[in-house]
Amino acid sequence: MVIRNTKQRQIIQQVLTEAGRPLSIDEILRAAQRQKPSLGIATVYRNVKDLVEDGNAVAVDLPGEGPRYELAGKGHHHHFRCSSCAKVFETKACIGKLRGLVPRQFEITGHNLVLYGRCPDCLARAKKLIGSRKK
Ligand SMILES: [Zn+2]
Ligand SMILES: [Zn+2]
Repeated sequence: MVIRNTKQRQIIQQVLTEAGRPLSIDEILRAAQRQKPSLGIATVYRNVKDLVEDGNAVAVDLPGEGPRYELAGKGHHHHFRCSSCAKVFETKACIGKLRGLVPRQFEITGHNLVLYGRCPDCLARAKKLIGSRKK
């Protein structure tokens, strides 16, 4: 039982590593099932919860969205959400220098930044669609 759970955790951890971007439970499930078709959503939930509790993964919360999960320890970064396919990606860094946005009397203790737009795949698909319409 313990060994089986470890194997499942390894698969999920590997899925998150290979994705290189935050994944929803559904996305983790779909990717994990490619390696182990018998994997169920309850197992994914439980293992993701364990990974978060052990500090190996963190939840990424976007306004009005279900949580995504990414591996812990990546350093300060933000996220980009594709408005077409709803996939979430990581930004390389932070814009920083936010101090100037509020008067001196304020103390900033944190910030949250989400970029919205279209990912390369969706952009390519949209261009193709426009191209085919013109013909
Ligand atoms: Zn997209
Ligand atoms: Zn930042």
